[in-house]
Amino acid sequence: MSTTQSISNSRGQYESKAYAATGPKSSLAPTKIQRRTPGEDDIQIEILFCGICHSDLHQVRNEWSAMPTVYPCVPGHEIVGRVTRVGSAVTKFKPGDLAAVGCLIDSDGNCVSCQSGLEQFCPKMTLTYNSPDPHLGGVTFGGYSDSIVVKEHFVLIVPKNLNLAGVAPLLCAGITTYSPIRHWGVTKGKKVGVVGLGGLGHMAVKFAHAFGAHVVVFTTSPNKKENALNLGADEVIVSRNTEEMNKHVASFDFIIDTVSAEHDINAYLQLLRPDGNMTLVGAPDKPHAVSAVSLLFNRRSLSGSLIGGIAETQEMLDFCSKHNITADVEIIPIQKVNEAYDRMMTGDVKYRFSIDMTSLKQTT
Ligand code: NAP
Ligand code: ZN
Repeated sequence: MSTTQSISNSRGQYESKAYAATGPKSSLAPTKIQRRTPGEDDIQIEILFCGICHSDLHQVRNEWSAMPTVYPCVPGHEIVGRVTRVGSAVTKFKPGDLAAVGCLIDSDGNCVSCQSGLEQFCPKMTLTYNSPDPHLGGVTFGGYSDSIVVKEHFVLIVPKNLNLAGVAPLLCAGITTYSPIRHWGVTKGKKVGVVGLGGLGHMAVKFAHAFGAHVVVFTTSPNKKENALNLGADEVIVSRNTEEMNKHVASFDFIIDTVSAEHDINAYLQLLRPDGNMTLVGAPDKPHAVSAVSLLFNRRSLSGSLIGGIAETQEMLDFCSKHNITADVEIIPIQKVNEAYDRMMTGDVKYRFSIDMTSLKQTT
């Protein structure tokens, strides 16, 4: 255990270093938070890397009306680290093992969703941050921190052959794209569109390519063209070019939309072939306008998808191990997190920031 994690057994809590925002317009800054000491089925993890998801930015800036932010907010749900301590009932992990945590840290375990491995739809699920904390009160604190304590069921086994900084983003960007790609049956011979080439989008390209699909990227950034091809795309379309878009009308089996901001989704719906599906994973706050006609013709469907269950997240990590897939990351120290948020807003990231959490040791 690191010296910063001094345990106070009497209170059943210990202090952890973290970065938090205190309001929607405040920068993230160093702070200290309380973590519970591990219970019998808990695992304590020293965090080594934490990815920066656009959801962190939405939440820190209180951009989601359906999920108001409680401050101080410690974001981070793409967590990879090393186990420092385990409770007496823990069976899968021991101190020294690698471990990972994504967006979920608890659920009721009994409902229909939990029983079918879809913990992300449990009405009582606890998110890694900004959820009511059943143990300590207040809200949960995420991975921009030096440690975290999580129930064993929600801790993932990290494949040994992968680069850890690039594994961290798999815990959200990875599973959020892998899950709908599997659900909608993306295989060899299918034509798949990926809208937006950011953290989620670049993982969608890697997965769809690995499943053998013909992958077409839609981007607003012409300078990403070359990179998209290197990531595994077969074609790249600059989405502002209507002529290029029209060449693909009624030809896609599946389109995944990862865009974080307001945009016209009808432009993509018309590209679906009969019975084709478009799945939204991007989460801009403002509702999309959907033209009924875009759906009526060709019996097209529009759906959404939220991260993935725990078993499927492990399946995704094992798939990544087998196919040598990780996120393309730029590693930064935590002290650069605010700059990273600004850069994410201008699309200046290829394709995920991964915070080296050992940099947090330098803060007092
Ligand atoms: P990101 O790295 O910032 O990528 C978003 C991409 O969207 C950008 O790279 C850009 O791609 C495109 N884009 C941005 N602004 C745009 C605009 N005004 N018009 C058109 N395209 C635009 O974000 P991310 O981390 O991948 O997250 C994407 C979204 O998914 C966020 O809303 C996030 O909250 C959400 N999310 C959802 C889930 C879930 O479970 N459903 C999980 C994680 C994240 P181009 O430059 O290629 O156009
Ligand atoms: Zn995320």
